Amino acid sequence: MQLNLGPDDRTQILRRLQGRLIAAFGRIVRPPEKRRSPEWVLVHGVIGAQTKTAASNASTDSLLAEFGSWDEVARLSIQDLEARLQRQTFPSVAAKRLSDCLNAIIAERGSVDLRHLSNLETDAAIAWLETFPGVARKNAAGVMNASTFNRKAIVIDGHHRRIMQRMGIVAAKADTAKTFDALMPILPPEWSAEDIDEHHLLLKKLGQTLCRPRMPQCPNCFAKGDCDHGSRTHG
Ligand code: SF4
Repeated sequence: MQLNLGPDDRTQILRRLQGRLIAAFGRIVRPPEKRRSPEWVLVHGVIGAQTKTAASNASTDSLLAEFGSWDEVARLSIQDLEARLQRQTFPSVAAKRLSDCLNAIIAERGSVDLRHLSNLETDAAIAWLETFPGVARKNAAGVMNASTFNRKAIVIDGHHRRIMQRMGIVAAKADTAKTFDALMPILPPEWSAEDIDEHHLLLKKLGQTLCRPRMPQCPNCFAKGDCDHGSRTHG
């Protein structure tokens, strides 16, 4: 994993893109009081496959409200967890993954407590998180960036990956981890962790509007001039 930030033509494209995204969609800044604990973000990601963010937010909040701690949630049977994860698209998969992940962390650390990650470099913390069941790069980066850790780590979802591929900023078939590894060194070095979080949230907006999976609206897109796909098909 490469986290060194440095100059690259693509860095200037990302700067331009950020300005255009903000002009089009407005600011999407996560206020400090909306940052959740690293453990909350981890659980949210582990149960969140193919599920809308609002549903995963509600499931994560209600588990914590009912049981008071993630250690108590880890003691639930898979069946009891599944009954409480009915908002998720795949409740049985989410229940098994969550149980496996929480209990693996307890086996290694004694409890579901990620505070020790604040002593690690971001790349080492991400590598450690990815050793647990159900934790891949998107979630590990989210734990470091979108939680109270507030570290420089870019969260890559399907929208983000597709847009970076179409623009030619990452390889056409790059998976999430490869997209992350390609983007981290070329992010504008002046971007804060909050800017990186906002960049991801804005790209998600672009992916939900103009740059949808099918039939991207390139003629109307503000990114067309910097986009391989847009300039090739509508230049
Ligand atoms: S120009 Fe087209 S392919 Fe490129 S980002 Fe915009 S909508 Fe997506």
